Amino acid sequence: MAELFYDDDADLSIIAGRKVAVIGYGSQGHAHALNLRDSGVDVRVGLREGSASRAKAEEQGLAVATVADAVREADVVVILAPDQVQRHVYRDEIAPNLREGATLVFGHGFNIRFGYIKPEQGVDVVMVAPKGPGHLVRREYEAGRGVPVIVAVEQDASGKAWDLAKSYARAIGGLRAGGIKTTFTEETETDLFGEQAVLCGGASQLVQYGFEVLTEAGYQPEVAYFEVLHELKLIVDLMVEGGIAKQRWSVSDTAEYGDYVSGPRVISPEVKENMKAVLGDIQNGAFAKRFIDDQDAGGTEFAELRAKGEQHPIEATGRELRKMFSWIKPSDSDYVEGSA
Ligand code: NAD
Ligand code: MG
Ligand code: MG
Ligand code: MG
Ligand code: MG
Repeated sequence: MAELFYDDDADLSIIAGRKVAVIGYGSQGHAHALNLRDSGVDVRVGLREGSASRAKAEEQGLAVATVADAVREADVVVILAPDQVQRHVYRDEIAPNLREGATLVFGHGFNIRFGYIKPEQGVDVVMVAPKGPGHLVRREYEAGRGVPVIVAVEQDASGKAWDLAKSYARAIGGLRAGGIKTTFTEETETDLFGEQAVLCGGASQLVQYGFEVLTEAGYQPEVAYFEVLHELKLIVDLMVEGGIAKQRWSVSDTAEYGDYVSGPRVISPEVKENMKAVLGDIQNGAFAKRFIDDQDAGGTEFAELRAKGEQHPIEATGRELRKMFSWIKPSDSDYVEGSA
């Protein structure tokens, strides 16, 4: 059984007595910074010169500094820049300015697990990773609730890294819901696997194939979109509420019987073997290397893949059709349709 902790297991005064620098003000950065501030923590945001996020952070009443200045002032440095730029920011701006005895906090273990960041021995290295997007982390906190977090300690130079990690997790609201103890290795490998095999990669490909099969068979794209994309949310909501069992209980017997006989036919045992190969490439660092090598070469593969995804016919159908759903409000005001 996993080790769980809640608000009562953490001492908020630990993080409230520290100066915290949050590096990056994107999805996670804005949520961590604002939740920390509202929990009474002395927080500043570190951003690059000319960052578009600067005005937003200042508007929300946060102090903004360059990364170097924010790090110089801080006892706790939270690295929430994109994974692929963290190693540059760390080497150039964080490491040279890091105070002795400082703590580094990560929201994902990628750079530590794959060795792109190697902190000095004397530094505490912890992770507090919310299991949800940043906008939800902020929204839930404001509603008096929280998004569950997983917490890990990679390096415990002070002998007090766990106390600080739990205090931080409480301050961002995570322990209102609950925290689970993990390791950088477990978090990184399972996070990458989940998003690649099931949540992002698997689900996107499944939806695209479903749309292709129906439209190639002559069905209307609008009807296909409803069946294979729009309704997915309703199914996933039921799964989240009560597992796969509740989803099967809620759908018709026809749908439930079809689930049993056709699910394993579509997602055949071969798919499980493919998933194992994907996990293998995560564990042996091949995925991380491919991602970072492409970034180092200007991210051309990434840009091509993104453009290709955006050109899939399901996107054009969806753009038109969503105008019918006046009640669907974007959960992220930064997203611009077709901007990829
Ligand atoms: P993001 O892309 O939304 O935002 C990153 C921010 O970093 C930008 O807004 C910008 O302000 C800043 N930035 C970019 N380059 C910078 C630089 N050179 N120096 C300083 N700041 C810079 O990123 P994100 O999705 O919030 O991801 C941040 C971390 O959180 C990653 O480690 C990610 O894996 C992790 N994480 C994200 C989510 C999520 O919901 N997006 C969930 C769990 C964990
Ligand atoms: Mg994840
Ligand atoms: Mg991830
Ligand atoms: Mg149906
Ligand atoms: Mg039923």
